[in-house]
Amino acid sequence: MESALTARDRVGVQDFVLLENFTSEAAFIENLRKRFKENLIYTYIGSVLVSVNPYKDLEIYTKNHMERYRGVNFYEVSPHIYAVADNSYRSMRTERKDQCILISGESGAGKTEASKKILQYYAVTCPASEQVQTVKDRLLQSNPVLEAFGNAKTLRNDNSSRFGKYMDIQFDFKGAPVGGHIINYLLEKSRVVHQNHGERNFHIFYQMMEGGEEDLLRRLGLERNPQQYQYLVKGNCPKVSSINDRSDWKVVRKALTVIGFNEDEELLNIIASVLHLGNVQYGGEDGIACITSDTQIKYLARLLAVNGSVLTEALTHKKIIAKGEELVSPLNLEQASSARDALSKAVYGRTFTWLVNKINASLAYTDDSYKNYSVIGLLDIYGFEVFQNNSFEQFCINYCNEKLQQLFIELTLKSEQDEYEAEGITWEPVQYFNNKIICDLVEEKFKGIISILDEECLRPGDASDLTFLEKLEDIVGGHPHFITHKLADGKTRKVMGREEFRLLHYAGEVNYNINGFLDKNNDLLFRNLKEVMCMSENKILRQCFDREELSDKKRPETAATQFKASLAKLMEILMSKEPSYVRCIKPNDSKQAARFDEVLIRHQVKYLGLMENLRVRRAGFAYRRRYEVFLQRYKSLCPDTWPNWQGKLSDGVSTLVKHLGYKPEEYKLGRSKIFIRFPKTLFATEDALET
Ligand code: ATP
Ligand code: MG
Repeated sequence: MESALTARDRVGVQDFVLLENFTSEAAFIENLRKRFKENLIYTYIGSVLVSVNPYKDLEIYTKNHMERYRGVNFYEVSPHIYAVADNSYRSMRTERKDQCILISGESGAGKTEASKKILQYYAVTCPASEQVQTVKDRLLQSNPVLEAFGNAKTLRNDNSSRFGKYMDIQFDFKGAPVGGHIINYLLEKSRVVHQNHGERNFHIFYQMMEGGEEDLLRRLGLERNPQQYQYLVKGNCPKVSSINDRSDWKVVRKALTVIGFNEDEELLNIIASVLHLGNVQYGGEDGIACITSDTQIKYLARLLAVNGSVLTEALTHKKIIAKGEELVSPLNLEQASSARDALSKAVYGRTFTWLVNKINASLAYTDDSYKNYSVIGLLDIYGFEVFQNNSFEQFCINYCNEKLQQLFIELTLKSEQDEYEAEGITWEPVQYFNNKIICDLVEEKFKGIISILDEECLRPGDASDLTFLEKLEDIVGGHPHFITHKLADGKTRKVMGREEFRLLHYAGEVNYNINGFLDKNNDLLFRNLKEVMCMSENKILRQCFDREELSDKKRPETAATQFKASLAKLMEILMSKEPSYVRCIKPNDSKQAARFDEVLIRHQVKYLGLMENLRVRRAGFAYRRRYEVFLQRYKSLCPDTWPNWQGKLSDGVSTLVKHLGYKPEEYKLGRSKIFIRFPKTLFATEDALET
């Protein structure tokens, strides 16, 4: 039999806290590499699960595996996403405390797959009745629907989530899932009208083209060819080898039925109308836009259930109300195209939110007999993004990651501290970088970046992306985490463009290009387009475009401010729960199995703050175990504790470790647990078991 020592050489340690050289990044990566090579994609840092995307199907998600992790202590089995799921479930049941599982990592790292595995684990292992089965089915089926509308093929991931998602699973007192609720964050609406080369629009469009029945397509006025549609041709990538649009279409249709959906016709009309909108072409003389052919308008009038000539007028004119009077002016070609695109984005974006609400209604827990339920929340949200060109979207996403890091610091360090306190153990607090200073830079009232951006968005006159940048320089120019091309002495920093600002994020530096910041933040739809949509007879659109919007004198909140508010709410939700963390890592940029790209991985280890995480975890004691668990495992090593210790558990452990020769500085005994400072102490004990 292989000894524990050589096994460790081959497959590494299953918890990074057991690494002898825990401050060395090289040792950390080497451990990941060893395990990855052996298809061991999961490793812990204490209770945090680190996962490396294998890019191939591993036989580790069977029902047998689920059974193996059910009700079993974290440390008794090898690391697994099911162990995290089970651990949260048991804590929720025994401590009656709401839980949340926070999954992070960059695009393609495996967040969505991880969240699906957790959901499947609960669906299979939790108790069920007929009614519960319906809820389980709906929870599971919400995924294909949201993925069809919210995921797309990108260069990084064939099934990339283009929205953030937080999902509550509600459990009754028997531990059965009885309901759920989803909150969505910031859908990447710009994808509806534009895709980069090699990328696609949202899956649903291609699914409908491929899978839609002849009759349906005829009714919608669509041809079965994505290349016919302006909104689908830009990426020049209608087919993806890993995706079967035709069978996915069937899956989505079935999922909609399970969810209890009965607005099929309206929904399909909306999807088709977005494609027709994209094909509305403008021409015109003297720079005044007019629509060149009314084919599209005819379909649009029917599909959107609006008056065609009013729509035509709204797609070519702008209406503003000044001093109580309506002023209508024609749009030029460029303005008209962007008005059309704004309408497409609004229609699609609002329909997506409507869909989420619809799913929520079907998941709503309606049984009044026991209102008290416990919750496990799953957060699958975009990781830190650094692209060649970073814009408003990356700014929001990276701000979100700063907030999550804040939460992580507060909750992990606090819980670490709490544990030592509860156990009556003295320890030295550990130093770490607190990123609150960056959160403040972004979100502070009046002088944070979002406030400054909003101010420029509201300011009439000459406000532009460039004046926004100038204001930033004036107000936050001296902030230690903010840099532009301007140097304090009036000279310029050559390495930076004049249309950029750089933020020194906790995870690294990112340059943001300011072009489009004002427009994206305003996210405005001209008034007459809103009016047309408010008159729609389409049941879904009627709920998406509320007439009250028209009477509302106040401007709607800007995109960044809405996002900031939704993040603040998310933080509140998460703070009230006990967190578990899953940190996902992408092994390479080519979606390939068995390729371990060290440079790429080192970046992610840094972005995810794993070394710091490990340092904090190791600052006190590398290893801790409840007395009964420790005694049970090692009692055979000491004649006094074998076969059974009769006295107090702490005395038993004390007798055992003295017999093993632990030195006083190597361990401490708390109220219910033993704390061991160095891994080598534990390894020696483990090795003793083997011999
Ligand atoms: P994004 O931020 O773009 O949404 P993501 O982190 O959600 O990315 P996933 O969609 O979960 O990434 O994973 C990308 C792909 O990697 C999956 O489609 C799948 O092919 C593969 N993958 C991820 N996790 C696993 C796993 N545990 N086993 C096998 N393949 C996996
Ligand atoms: Mg995803």
